[in-house]
Amino acid sequence: MPKAIFRFYEELNDFLPEHRQKIDFKADFTDKRSIKDMIEALGVPHTEIDLILANGKSVDFTYILQDEDRVSVYPVFESLNIENVTRLRKIPLRRTKFIADINLGDIVKFMRVLGFDVYFDPTVSIQKIIEISQKESRIILTKSKKLLKFKKVTHGIFIRPGTTEKQIKRILDYLDITDRIRPFSRCLLCNNLLESVPKEKIIDRIPPKTRHFCDEYTHCKFCGKIFWKGAHFIRMKKVIEQILNQPEFYQAV
Ligand SMILES: [Zn+2]
Repeated sequence: MPKAIFRFYEELNDFLPEHRQKIDFKADFTDKRSIKDMIEALGVPHTEIDLILANGKSVDFTYILQDEDRVSVYPVFESLNIENVTRLRKIPLRRTKFIADINLGDIVKFMRVLGFDVYFDPTVSIQKIIEISQKESRIILTKSKKLLKFKKVTHGIFIRPGTTEKQIKRILDYLDITDRIRPFSRCLLCNNLLESVPKEKIIDRIPPKTRHFCDEYTHCKFCGKIFWKGAHFIRMKKVIEQILNQPEFYQAV
């Protein structure tokens, strides 16, 4: 049976069994196997990959493996200089609209606090998540490797275990979108953009104590929720600072 030698870099190793992490290893394959199929059979979702080298040359997902090929597989890696080779996607993973899988409620809340557009409906099926992701060009955020292996999924991020702050920092680093943060511009409940609203217009809905200390308010036209810079705002601000101060996850090689 033909064999190829594989090596996976950086956090792609998280998907491999321990004995295959961070080393060259041989794997058998059947004839005419695409590199994408083979990599996924080894456990790594294709959505996590930005660059594949076969015998030192960059190849795309459709490349058919040859006996004795030497394959290096890299994740999206901002600090690695790969300008001279073919990235797997013409448009890198830089779209900033998301759709979150169930169980990511905290991430959704804080991504929205940072101003990112995150579709979230815990009642929708996996198929529906994939469909919405394609139709609206949304990057899927998920803890399910299975979901990322569906062929139709082109943009997805696997959320690794960790604190919410670390998980969000990783998303921001991975897509290099820290400069697109717009804190407190989006409704935490329904994901729509907030607009400022004159105090007089909503005075009846502001708690009496708040009326005294706060003059600036925003509201969501869609769900009607009003926001102001109260105790909740200060708590959220602290969390944002914690997210931004997380250590870098990628180190240059
Ligand atoms: Zn709303």
